[in-house]
Amino acid sequence: MRVKHPIQYLRVSLLNKCNLNCFYCRPQNEKEVPEWNRSNPDKCKQALSLLYSMGVRKIRFTGGEPTLYKELPDLITFSKSLGPDVKSALTSNGILLAKLAPELRLAGLDSVNISIDTLDPTKFTSITSRDYLDRVLDGITCAKEYIPEVKLNTVVMKGVNDDEVANLIEFANSMKVNIRFIEYMPSRTGTPHYKYISGNEIRNSLPYEFSALGQSGASAARYYKANNLDIKVGFINPVSHSFCNNCNRLRLAADGKLYGCLFDGRNINLFELLEQDDIKAQQETIKLVNDKQFQGCSGVASSQDNLPSFLEMGG
Ligand code: SAM
Repeated sequence: MRVKHPIQYLRVSLLNKCNLNCFYCRPQNEKEVPEWNRSNPDKCKQALSLLYSMGVRKIRFTGGEPTLYKELPDLITFSKSLGPDVKSALTSNGILLAKLAPELRLAGLDSVNISIDTLDPTKFTSITSRDYLDRVLDGITCAKEYIPEVKLNTVVMKGVNDDEVANLIEFANSMKVNIRFIEYMPSRTGTPHYKYISGNEIRNSLPYEFSALGQSGASAARYYKANNLDIKVGFINPVSHSFCNNCNRLRLAADGKLYGCLFDGRNINLFELLEQDDIKAQQETIKLVNDKQFQGCSGVASSQDNLPSFLEMGG
């Protein structure tokens, strides 16, 4: 059996706990909040080795909040040891990066995406239920000092932070880091979708003369330049412009479940399969990849009972 679609990019959710409590990420209904789960580091390494042998070359650690996972540096070093062509990346809320960035760089971290939805301390607290904006800002400064590539990610929500997009661009420009604006995606367990606003609507409302840059590889972002900006501004529009056709991703959750898509609840338990037999684990992975549906994400989330929350899958 052969894979029909290349799989090069793995997102590994290390735990389903976070030190923020963002209203759009955490399940709304307390009953849906997942049981505490953290990845087993040895099983995770086994899974990484298998997926590397099947073509994965970019490994992004996410969560929950991956910097709360104490074996993170060890897993980064392990990923880099798989081959010289492996890129290791992290998605983080930045809170612990002022403390951890030097150690993560020493471990081999190539790139970090830091999530920041607002620069207003009051709004930060109302989105995340925590008064930690200063820590995130320190985390960005420190990451910039140590990690070769730093990007900012903002989920834009109507009536929440859509009035801050230009400010966030100016902030990113002052820090000399690229920023990407992500469309708010539907989620089975999340808030209602009336806060959705399309990436094009956001871009057209901005006071910049943007010129489009080519899309790089299978990146989900479309990047733009403007004369008065030193940075690139990206838009990730999974709802209005599905990028399923270019998708080369797999997602490994903390419980060992491997998913082909954030919006497809079908999965295999890679940790359990690897306990039985490597060949079977490989065949089941190929089947999962070959069965991937390229259907976009709008509207499909609410209909699937088995779809994990963003908190579990890591966005
Ligand atoms: N804790 C880390 C962080 O904050 O980046 C990693 C996990 S978090 C789930 C990963 C990303 O998913 C964050 O940038 C978050 O904003 C995004 N996210 C969560 N829920 C989302 C939604 N409904 N639509 C779009 N992005 C979402």
